[in-house]
Amino acid sequence: MKPHNVCILGATGSIGDSTLDVIARNAGRFRVVALAAHRNVEKLADQCARFGARLAVIADPSLEGELQAALRARGADSEVLSGPAGLLHAAGMEEIDIVMAAIVGAAGLEPAFRAAQRGKRILLANKESLVIAGEVFMAEARRNDARILPVDSEHNAIFQSLPAGFEQGLDGAGVERIILTASGGPFLELAASELGRVTPAQACKHPNWDMGRKISVDSATLMNKGLEVIEARWLFNARPDQIEVLIHPQSIVHSMVSYRDGSILAQMGTPDMRTPIAHALAWPERIDAGVERLDLARMNDLEFRQPDLERFPCLGLAFEAMRRGDSAPAALNAANEVAVEYFLEGRLGFDRIPQLVAAVMDRVAIVPLTGLEDVLEQDRTARRIAQEHAVTLQ
Ligand code: NAD
Ligand code: MG
Repeated sequence: MKPHNVCILGATGSIGDSTLDVIARNAGRFRVVALAAHRNVEKLADQCARFGARLAVIADPSLEGELQAALRARGADSEVLSGPAGLLHAAGMEEIDIVMAAIVGAAGLEPAFRAAQRGKRILLANKESLVIAGEVFMAEARRNDARILPVDSEHNAIFQSLPAGFEQGLDGAGVERIILTASGGPFLELAASELGRVTPAQACKHPNWDMGRKISVDSATLMNKGLEVIEARWLFNARPDQIEVLIHPQSIVHSMVSYRDGSILAQMGTPDMRTPIAHALAWPERIDAGVERLDLARMNDLEFRQPDLERFPCLGLAFEAMRRGDSAPAALNAANEVAVEYFLEGRLGFDRIPQLVAAVMDRVAIVPLTGLEDVLEQDRTARRIAQEHAVTLQ
C-alpha cells in the first residue's frame, strides 16, 4: 500500500506530539511531508530531522533563519518557509493527502480552510475553525470533496457512534440527541466565591487530560464544552436543540448518541488523544495507538450530572451564541481568546473571563457571514471590542 502523505499544522503542540507518536508506531503507512509550528524552532527542527520532513514552516517569519540553522545543525535538508503564506502552502501542497489541523485558536482557520479548498482529508483538532466559520467552512469542504474527520475526543466518539449517512440529517438517521460529555475541569467542585483567586498554573492542571494551555483554561471555564457544542452543530448537521452536555468527571465515556428507539451508543477509552488521532488517521481502518486499555472491572464509579451554568456561565454563553447564529459564535470565540490570553498573562481574573465574553456579546453587532473575508473581519472587530472592554475589568 502506498503511504499517505501527512502535513501537521501545529506539530510542536500537544496534538502534534501525539500525532507524530501514532505515526511513528505505524511507520510505512504514513509519510511526514510537512511540519509547521509557531515559534518553537528547536523542537520543530528535531521533528523534521527525525521524520525526514520535506518542508518545515515556521509561522513567525523572523525565525526563518534560525530554523534554517537548526535544521542544518541536525543534518536535515527540509525546505523552509515562513509566515502565513508558508502555512497556506503546506496545507495545500499537491502531494499531501492528510492535513492534521492542530494550530490553536483562530490562527488555525486560514490554513485549515486552504486544506478544505484543496479537497484534503482534514483531521480537525482546531475546533475554533468551525466555531468561527462553521457554515462557510463546511460548505467549502463539501464543494471540494474534502473529508473532515473529527479529532476532538467528544466529536470523534460521536462520529464513531453515528450511522453512515448521518450527514443527510440526524432525524432521518433515527438520532434524537447528541450528548457531549465534559470532565468539568479542575474547578468542578470549587465554590463560586473561590473562582476569582485561581491561578493560571491551577487552571492549566487538568485532572484527566494533558493539553495545551489555551484549551486547558477553556476546560476550566467550560468554554471548551461550549465551543464543542458549536463544533458538533456543524460537524454533524445538528439542530441546536439536538445537542446536550453532561458532566462526567471520569472522562471514560467520551460522548454519546441517543436514538429514537431508546438506544444510547457511547464510545469509551482511557483519556488519551492518540485514540481519536489514530482513528482519524487510519479511518475506516484501525491501527495501533499505543494507548493503555481500559480496565472495565475497575470502572465502578462512572457518574453523569447536569452542568452548573451559574458557576460556569461560559457554557450558557456558547449555547446562546449558537442559537443566535451568524457571526455570534465568531464573536464569542474572539472574546474568549482575548480573555484567556489576558488571564494567562496575569492581567485578568479567572472569573472575569465569562464577564468579558458576555460584555462583548452585548456590544458587538451580529451579522450574516458569507465568506472567509467576512469571518476574519468579524473576528478582528470582536477582538478589538474585547481588548477595549478588558481595561474596565482589570
Ligand atoms: P498547543 O498549545 O499544545 O499547541 C499549539 C500548536 O499550534 C503549536 O504547535 C504551536 O506552535 C502552533 N501555533 C500556535 N499559534 C500559532 C500561529 N499563530 N500560527 C501557527 N501555528 C501556531 O495546543 P494543543 O493542546 O495541541 O491544541 C491544538 C488544537 O487542538 C486546539 O484548537 C485545541 O482546542 C484542539 N484540541 C486539543 C486537544 C488536546 O488534548 N490537546 C484535544 C482536543 C482538541
Ligand atoms: Mg474535547
